[in-house]
Amino acid sequence: MLLGSSVFPGQSADQLIWIDGRWSGYRWFRWAPIWLRITIFCCYGLLQRLLVVQFTALENCHAFDDISLAILDGATKRIAFIDPNAPAPAPQPPLAYPKGKLMMDAIMIKPKLSGTYKVSGKVTEAEHPFTYLEGTANGPNKWGLIKPEWRACDAGKLQSPIDLVHEKVQICPTLGNLERDYKPAVAKLRNRGHDISLQWEGDAGKLTINGTQYNLLQCHWHSPSEHTLNGKRYDMELHVVHKNPQEQIAVIGMLFEFGPPDTFLQKMIPYVKGIGEEGIDLGIINPGEIIFGGRKYYRYIGSLTVPPCTEGVTWTVMKKIRTVSREQVKALSAAVPEGFKVNSRPTQELDGRPVFFYNSDGEFQ
Ligand SMILES: [Zn+2]
Repeated sequence: MLLGSSVFPGQSADQLIWIDGRWSGYRWFRWAPIWLRITIFCCYGLLQRLLVVQFTALENCHAFDDISLAILDGATKRIAFIDPNAPAPAPQPPLAYPKGKLMMDAIMIKPKLSGTYKVSGKVTEAEHPFTYLEGTANGPNKWGLIKPEWRACDAGKLQSPIDLVHEKVQICPTLGNLERDYKPAVAKLRNRGHDISLQWEGDAGKLTINGTQYNLLQCHWHSPSEHTLNGKRYDMELHVVHKNPQEQIAVIGMLFEFGPPDTFLQKMIPYVKGIGEEGIDLGIINPGEIIFGGRKYYRYIGSLTVPPCTEGVTWTVMKKIRTVSREQVKALSAAVPEGFKVNSRPTQELDGRPVFFYNSDGEFQ
């Protein structure tokens, strides 16, 4: 027993011998004043704790792909387990990593609407397979029951949007800055019934995540926002949708609050009123003009926020809150039928998923 009992009051000699064993290489420590022993002991513990926390965080960051795949794999099995007896037509489409046409439909969200939907090129209040009206037969809580291929909306464990809670994120400086390489391309503005969407035709550039390239497809607007920050819902959310050759989707979400108008959205506003599903050609639109407003972002694995709620979407939600005018949001809302004036899905359970936060200096703020 070489460490003073005043350093570890109440501990037995055996315990202290063990502690001494760990520190036996530092014989000078035995003769250091008590205040120095305490300081060294505390600093050592604190440093060790910081190193473990930091190392764990970095390890998680490096393993982001592995985590994502494990989550996806687990979720797919859970869905199969949760709903083994659900009536489903044969062949049953997969719920995660769907290939080919299913995913293409999911991305382009071509609502399979009846001919009554379009009248003189305008979108009307005709029947729609789903709505955002809570408490109705085809409202958000019923989406998973409307069609077998939509059951991920109900039984999925990787659903979006979510509430992004500051205290629960893992700060991950190794995720890196968003690598966007967009280019001007011909685009068409369409009214998809449930939202207004700008769809690029041809090569509009790409987003690179973990070395994987996702081609820019389209963007669309939700109001109010779908993701919330610490429970707060903002006034609008822009989704910029990308897809890689393996049919995997990556979406960047940007949150807006009422204030000065958004310059990119303003280019669409004159055309929003009266457009139909077939859309209107806007000529060349430069996606590089979408202002991201910062480099900090949240990252998690989620889903499409409309049916079929396809899972496996790599989500990036920018931390910076930008501004949109009330008139701009009103124009978007006025163009879609009842049931879609408010087109935000309620937030979904996190179900244990990790949410990462990127900031180059490793700080949250
Ligand atoms: Zn969306």
